Amino acid sequence: MNARAETAPLPLDVERIRADFPLLSRTVHGKPLIYFDSANTSQKPASVIEAVDRHYREHNANVARAVHTLGEEATAAYEGARDALARFINAPSRDEVILTSGTTQAINMVAYSYALPRLKQGDAIVTTMMEHHANIVPWQLVAERTGATVKAAPIDANGELILEEYFKLLTPEVKLACVTHVSNVLGTVNPVREIARECRKRGIPLLVDGSQAAPHRKVDVQALGCDFYAITGHKMLAPTGTGALWAKREHLMAMPPFFGGGEMIREVRFEGTVFADPPHRFEAGTPNIAGFAGMSAAIDYLEGLGADRVKAHEQDLLAYLTQGIESLPGVRIFGTAREKEPVVSFLLEGAHANDMATLLDLQGVAVRSGHHCAHPLMQCFGVPATLRASLAFYNTKAEIDAFIEAVGRVRKLLL
Ligand code: PLP
Repeated sequence: MNARAETAPLPLDVERIRADFPLLSRTVHGKPLIYFDSANTSQKPASVIEAVDRHYREHNANVARAVHTLGEEATAAYEGARDALARFINAPSRDEVILTSGTTQAINMVAYSYALPRLKQGDAIVTTMMEHHANIVPWQLVAERTGATVKAAPIDANGELILEEYFKLLTPEVKLACVTHVSNVLGTVNPVREIARECRKRGIPLLVDGSQAAPHRKVDVQALGCDFYAITGHKMLAPTGTGALWAKREHLMAMPPFFGGGEMIREVRFEGTVFADPPHRFEAGTPNIAGFAGMSAAIDYLEGLGADRVKAHEQDLLAYLTQGIESLPGVRIFGTAREKEPVVSFLLEGAHANDMATLLDLQGVAVRSGHHCAHPLMQCFGVPATLRASLAFYNTKAEIDAFIEAVGRVRKLLL
């Protein structure tokens, strides 16, 4: 056995894995479902569905306010998700993990609690042309209020960030730098460690949108060296309405709360309210407790598979899918970065992405068409929309074969 074979991760048993996902066995328009829209939202294993169901059947109560048994169980489930998330992203402390409804809430929290109080006329926030609107619009909103500007680093024709241009934008007026770990449209993996290193040299905090990274790769916020890391649960097997913001303690301690209300205070007086310490300072109101019971089950499931094995299978699928799509006549692929997660955006000459997605649906294929909440990126490529096939570890090469055949049939119908 050679050294590579000795260290190669054991292949995933994908048929067994698929049996864990009830939805994958359904049909759509009488055809077996081919779900290639996991970058939009992932499917859920039975263990996650059962964790949510069990919560409502057996443990339902509010968190952190009742001393009765159910209240303690609900609190344990909710706080258990914080522990699981801290472990999952290797946070130095569970108190640095704020539970949110997803990445959008996490980024807005940084925009309003961290950036807004610090920004003044002439300051800037740096982001990139390949961001989801969630990593653009919150910055525009706080910039408008303060007279700051939002600057976006360009990308090249392969869909890779032009790093020198990003670094050139990191001038002394910049109060925060932002970047997506993985592009939701192109699959491009950005060199976050290198970006974080350059930001640190200039004393600029870095926020990373990890929405599309956490489902596919081991995330280690300490190794990455960033200041803020946002993730969303529903793309990584967990229920919708769950997510997290990890932030360095020094930032959280200096941040005023974004939402006010119950459970985020130490003492409320009309003369002045004293807020709780992080993380609870940022978690006003009743959270998505059942969703976070599901989040723990999702993390258990992902950890049970192993990030290396997931990566090996997904990279194999990505190469196979890319090859299949490249073989289609008149195809244009968007995003040919050296390092990618399993996402392929493309167009066929003369066919509109929405028409293709509609006809593919009739064949049981779920793919996303449109601008993917990334208008500036679409402008970079000069197109209004793309067709996006995005995979997860539960997909197979047989599905890719069937998908390529379906795209071929749709092409004939349209052209
Ligand atoms: N950032 C990226 C890169 C995404 O792909 C998404 C979702 O598509 C988001 C942010 C927003 O996530 P959510 O709507 O779950 O908050």
